[in-house]
This record gives sequence, C-alpha cells and structure tokens, in this order.
Amino acid sequence: MKETIIKKIRVKKIRADLFMPFAISSGSHERLENILFEVELKSGIKGFGEAAIANHVTGETQNLTFNNLKRIGVWLEGKDIADYFNIFVFAERKLDKNRSALAAVEMAVLDALTKSLNIPLWKFYGNKCAEIKSDITLVIGGEKNNYSFIRKMAARGFNVFKIKVGVDFDKDINRVVSISRITGGAGIYLDANCAYDAETAFKFIKTLEKHKVVPLVFEQPTAKEDFAGLKFLTGKLKMPVCADESVSSVEDAFKIIKNGYANAINIKLMKFGLMRSREIYNLAKIKNIKLMMGEMLESSLSSLCAAHFAGGLGGFDFIDLDTPFFIKDKIMNSGAIIKRSGIYEINKVKKGIGVKPI
Ligand SMILES: [Mg+2]
Repeated sequence: MKETIIKKIRVKKIRADLFMPFAISSGSHERLENILFEVELKSGIKGFGEAAIANHVTGETQNLTFNNLKRIGVWLEGKDIADYFNIFVFAERKLDKNRSALAAVEMAVLDALTKSLNIPLWKFYGNKCAEIKSDITLVIGGEKNNYSFIRKMAARGFNVFKIKVGVDFDKDINRVVSISRITGGAGIYLDANCAYDAETAFKFIKTLEKHKVVPLVFEQPTAKEDFAGLKFLTGKLKMPVCADESVSSVEDAFKIIKNGYANAINIKLMKFGLMRSREIYNLAKIKNIKLMMGEMLESSLSSLCAAHFAGGLGGFDFIDLDTPFFIKDKIMNSGAIIKRSGIYEINKVKKGIGVKPI
C-alpha cells in the first residue's frame, strides 16, 4: 500500500483571538496559540492534527511542542500509516512528556488513514455515532456580561452550562444560583479546577442544595493530589465527582478507578493522546465509571476529532467541547458540521475528521 506512505510533514503555529478571555480558577487563556500538524501521503491525501497548548495546566509551551513536532516529523516521513499502531508506540516513546504533540501526530495520522479508507473518523472508533451536544462554559469574571452571554447562548439552544468556580465562595454561590434561575433550570456542570479542600467543596454543594440547585457533575473539586478529599466527596455527594487534573495518564486513571477516588473521569485527547484516551475509556467502562469528553482551548479541528471519538465509542455522560464557540477568528473550515447550538453533526462527515485549515 504505497499510497499510504507519508511524503511530507508540515508544522505550523496557529493563533486566533477569542470573544472573551477563557478564565478558570488556576489561570487564563487570552488567545488560542496552538500547533497545526499536517501529514501528506503519496496519494496526495492530507491529514491534519492539532496540539492545543494549555501552559497553566500541563506546563507545555508552544515552542517546545513546535520543535518536538518538527523532530518527529523527520522520522515520520517515509513511514506507512497503515502501520499506525507502531507509529503511535514510537511517537509516545519520543513525546511522553509532550502529550499535546503526541495527540497532534495521532490525529493527523488517523485523519489521513480514515480519508484513505473513505470513512468518517467516528467509524474507526465504532459504529454508534451517538449524538454529540456540548455544554457551554461560563468562565470566571465579567459577571454582568456573563448574564447576557447566558441568555444569548440559551436562545441559541445550549441547555447545559458548565460553571467555573473556586475564586470567591459567596460570589460563586450567587453566580450558580442566578445562572440556574436565568436558564430556567438548565443542566449545570461545576468545575473548581482544584480550588477547594474537601470540606469547602462539600459546603459549597450543601449551600447550593439549600437554594434547590443540584449540579449534574462536580469536576475536580480538590487539589490534583488530594485523593482523600476526592474520595470523601465521592462517597458523600449525590452527583458524580469527576477527576480531571488528577488524571493525566493511564496509570492515574487506573489508580483513581481502583481506589474509588472518583466516579467519573474527564477524557481530553490533549492529556493522554488518542490511543491512551481509548484505553482509559475501556478501563472506565469496565468499572462503570462515568465519562466526560473534554478539551483544552481547541479549534474546531481537534474539537471535532474529540466528537468523533466520543460519538463513535458512545456512552459518554457529559460532553464539554465548547471552545470553538469562543474563537473569533476563522482558522478552520468545518463546513456546517458544528451547529451554533453546540451540536456536532458527525453523521454528516463523509471522510476523516472533516476539517480543513484555512
Ligand atoms: Mg476541568
């Protein structure tokens, strides 16, 4: 299968302005600054991958990721993507500490492979093609604007709001209660991004309950390494406690599941790479752990890739793939697949991921 041999690699920094800064309790993104990774096959087919850099979460930088992708690109030229599994094994050995770069390589290779096979990426993962409808995140800060933003997003069809909390207890309670009222009881995901200790997190939920607000999931209430705190909350709270920052490898996922530290896991392609994400999916499914499909600050390229992953495998409980809706500049063309209401119509993709960089 000579046609599937990689002829050329291209690595490019990409940048886009946002409608508003993407602020969480641990830091903020002012703009998107990611890397585009392209593989071109002998057949002329091109596959695209994205490395999303979240320095305040993973410590990765755009320059380091760019250089690593350049280096692995040299090795990739001449390789046959039909041997994708061995390519991924080698890539992981080289990019173990730069997971977003690994994800970009795997994404580009699978995009090219599924285009060569004439199938959409979701079919590579399974035959379910579950509907993918994302929540929309309410970042920290800009309170007044937030309320008009919520009304606008609810009018567009979003019916689950992910609220970032963890800066000011009382203000956060007021925000969450107001948001619940404004949206007429829309679904709420809470994400504290490591901000609380177990006791404060418990009090936070109990205070919300007094106001008759019960979130659907509570993401990363405690510090990354505070497993005792996570476990306490998992045992006490009605809603699933979802580990995000606490899980950055298969080993972490295994530890969380085995010890019952949390009963949900947030899978992000940028934390694990695509191959390892699927392993975590398997581990979680076997033990009835709930799953969120999440992302870093990603363009429609890797967001749509994540939608294929979740839609093809099926069985995700929470979908948090909303960052394309925060990007002002048009840097990717995904046709009409991603709807303004947060729905990813992956069933309409003919082959590959279905995104072309502009
Ligand atoms: Mg999170």
